[in-house]
Amino acid sequence: MSFDFDLFVIGAGSGGVRAARFAAGFGARVAVAESRYLGGTCVNVGCVPKKLLVYGAHYHEDFEQAAGFGWTLAEPRFDWATLIANKNREIQRLNGIYRNLLVNSGVTLLEGHARLCDAHTVEVAGQRLRAKHILIATGGWPQIPEIPGKEHAISSNEAFFLPSLPRRVLVVGGGYIAVEFASIFNGLGAQTSLLYRGELFLRGFDRSVREHLRDELGKKGLDLQFNADIARIDKQADGSLAATLQDGRVLEADCVFYATGRRPMLDDLGLENVAVAQDAKGFIKVDEAYRTSEPSIHAIGDVIGRVQLTPVALAEGMAVARLLFRPEEYRPVDYKLIPTAVFSLPNIGTVGLSEDEARAAGHRVKLFESRFRGMKLTLTESQEKTLMKLVVDADSDRVLGCHMVGPEAGEILQGIAVALKAGATKAIFDETIGIHPTAAEEFVTMRTPMA
Ligand code: FAD
Ligand code: NDP
Repeated sequence: MSFDFDLFVIGAGSGGVRAARFAAGFGARVAVAESRYLGGTCVNVGCVPKKLLVYGAHYHEDFEQAAGFGWTLAEPRFDWATLIANKNREIQRLNGIYRNLLVNSGVTLLEGHARLCDAHTVEVAGQRLRAKHILIATGGWPQIPEIPGKEHAISSNEAFFLPSLPRRVLVVGGGYIAVEFASIFNGLGAQTSLLYRGELFLRGFDRSVREHLRDELGKKGLDLQFNADIARIDKQADGSLAATLQDGRVLEADCVFYATGRRPMLDDLGLENVAVAQDAKGFIKVDEAYRTSEPSIHAIGDVIGRVQLTPVALAEGMAVARLLFRPEEYRPVDYKLIPTAVFSLPNIGTVGLSEDEARAAGHRVKLFESRFRGMKLTLTESQEKTLMKLVVDADSDRVLGCHMVGPEAGEILQGIAVALKAGATKAIFDETIGIHPTAAEEFVTMRTPMA
């Protein structure tokens, strides 16, 4: 049987680009189809533009705090249109870099929607191409619950391109995106409420982290409403929105932003033409080697619904490239101890088990916790507190989890993740000399367990 390509990748996002480039580097003939934007969600409507907006929002506090260090500023003014235009320019630059990365690695880039015709054939822009292996790396898409007036709500996709900063925003959800965007809107000066259906947001994170972030966001003037959910949204005569909550209250806003999770992006992919099975939530089912139930088709990244993070999609992409074209170098992705950050203001950084997870897994735990006002704030009015927490196995002394809420928590936790991967014990943390004066040194100077 003759094939046009050894590997046909559908989707030039984090996972697809990584798999394509590595496979081409291993000598395979590779094509990638991309229907929307090079670099996928992360580059265009995810990690990158989000982080730029977070930086933008943080200036608010920087300006306030500068006075304590002797700086006098004219009244700062914020212009949303400038931030968005500059962000768009940067994303365009990155799109170009992704194009070059693919083309320079010898990958054939096909710009258009790809549709599966059979287990070895993909159609893009009226062209049918045959490949020995097909990789589905089509990512995810925001999911907004079916409520009356849903059409008046936006998701993260639209938030990045709003023509102006809304004056009043309701953010619905209690996960990564809700917490990050609530911080962005609040920092940039919008009157912001976050509505979460449960008793406390960020389910799955350590409880101290969730409670600490709740308190810190509250101090910054973010209106947090727990056990709250919207029943319907109505557009009013003046163009503003009225959100009626399930408890009957009505909240007015100029923007209702839903961040209630993401579904797999499988629209018009032609799955009916192949034997690729999906799980109960619609994500593509794969085995430990990313094989779908159709032997010639693999899937990675958000579309398999495991861990929806860019570095995980990258690792999966690399794993598939090796598996197919350099099997002797194949190493399975290790899903244990994946560090992660939530870029709320302040940030969360975390790796390993939460206190509750550690107890549920049968560990006898020792906890170390520190809360302090960062040195940079001592000359300012800010009362923001940083939280650091270590969850330690009392029997083996292994550090099971490490959690932080505070400035640059993601930057700090990346290094700690290496230590945890290496199996560091609390004794090793204690023997490590601190870097002074930093916030991070607190992680190696916590001596007295709290429980
Ligand atoms: P994607 O990056 O979504 O790429 C899939 C690509 O496939 C897209 O370009 C799409 O257009 C294309 N495609 C889909 N269907 C077809 C088709 N039929 N034909 C051709 N092309 C198709 N992760 C982090 O690690 N850190 C963060 O800070 C972070 N922030 C985020 C913020 C937001 C607002 C969002 C939404 C996500 C964020 N993520 C973050 C998650 C991260 O973006 C995803 O985990 C990652 O992009 C998944 O990569 P992927 O390759 O699976 O899919
Ligand atoms: P998440 O899965 O993180 O959170 C979804 C939130 O919406 C949860 O609080 C959930 O509540 C709530 N929710 C779900 N359905 C409903 C509903 N019908 N009505 C009301 N609330 C609902 O999804 P996100 O959309 O925030 O982000 C998607 C993924 O993208 C993340 O899980 C993460 O993997 C990735 N991401 C990573 C980032 C980073 O690394 N910094 C940043 C942004 C995204 P409940 O908990 O009660 O189920």
